[in-house]
Amino acid sequence: MQTRTLPGRRLAGVEVRIDLSVLVLVALVGWAFTGIFRADHELVVALTMAAVGAVLVVLTTLAHELGHAVEARYRGMEVEGITLLLFGGVTEMHVEGQSARDELAVAAVGPWISLVCAAGFGLLATFAGDLLPAVLAGPVGQVAGVLGWWNLILAAFNLVPGAPLDGGRVLRALLWMLTGDRLRALRISVRAGQVLGVTLIVLGVTVLVRGGPRATLVAAAFALSGIFLIRAAATELRHAELNAVLEGRRVIDLLALPPAPLAADQRVGELDRDRVTRGGDLHTVHRDTDLVGVVERDALLGEGSAARWPPEALLSELAEPLDDVPAVELTDDLHTLIDAFQGAHNVVRIVRDGRTVGALTEREIARAIARLRRDGTR
Ligand SMILES: [Zn+2]
Repeated sequence: MQTRTLPGRRLAGVEVRIDLSVLVLVALVGWAFTGIFRADHELVVALTMAAVGAVLVVLTTLAHELGHAVEARYRGMEVEGITLLLFGGVTEMHVEGQSARDELAVAAVGPWISLVCAAGFGLLATFAGDLLPAVLAGPVGQVAGVLGWWNLILAAFNLVPGAPLDGGRVLRALLWMLTGDRLRALRISVRAGQVLGVTLIVLGVTVLVRGGPRATLVAAAFALSGIFLIRAAATELRHAELNAVLEGRRVIDLLALPPAPLAADQRVGELDRDRVTRGGDLHTVHRDTDLVGVVERDALLGEGSAARWPPEALLSELAEPLDDVPAVELTDDLHTLIDAFQGAHNVVRIVRDGRTVGALTEREIARAIARLRRDGTR
């Protein structure tokens, strides 16, 4: 995720990053809380209570996300980290190989922790008068009361059954258990998430029409949450469909139609231009059976290539050597292949038994994956 975050810290073995938009959340929540507390307290007291309340909102959100992360790690999944955002938190994890039961447990634990927080703050609010001296009982009880409601609403909202909310994941896991079809379960939960997003936008417009300009902020909050949900649902579906395509496939499956290699001692002027055009973006250049490098089609036929490469130039002079290009084995899985592109490279070498047998560009891989997708997922 490309966001501006404060430097990360590790908590319970999980990397926690705080997006700068959390400052907006703290400001908004602090402002709203000040309004609530101002009715019964002096400004300084109300501001202090609001500040404590806003920090507790962030901390309870963190507890919710840590619940997901710790449960996921306990179940053997790899957790990348937690990012706290304006709209709550995101726990990034690798879900390959997880079962429906794992998914259910990881999704449900977040709202469960929010409910526990709600109950804890509710108890504190109820019994603050018996537990604390009179001076503190009022403010502590009130802050605890607001936090109790906040966490209850957070748990309830998160349990709404639409992806990417926790409720959507719970729904997906249950449908997966029932139907045995993971991708179908996900599509239904994503559809539910999109319906929920549209509902939120309609609610926002209704609030604006009914309440007039004074309701602008609430209306905007509804509409923005709706847009956020629709977009996140679509992203989730794209990721899952990609994963379904990649699952169980290897690099060799993408090399179904490797372009015929070009000979190193061939001259640019003798090239069969049609053949080069029909081939891929990237042509391998061989001397006998050894791969000496790659040459991109655009470098051979693109604009300006005639001026750059005289007809008598040898392909071995044009070919870019592959020494510092990342390599993957023919038998590696496709996740490894995609990870190999992290960094500045847009080419990877394909290796068999230590010998380079070919190369693929990012664009070729994207096209090959699109082809796999069209041919149907397993
Ligand atoms: Zn959650």
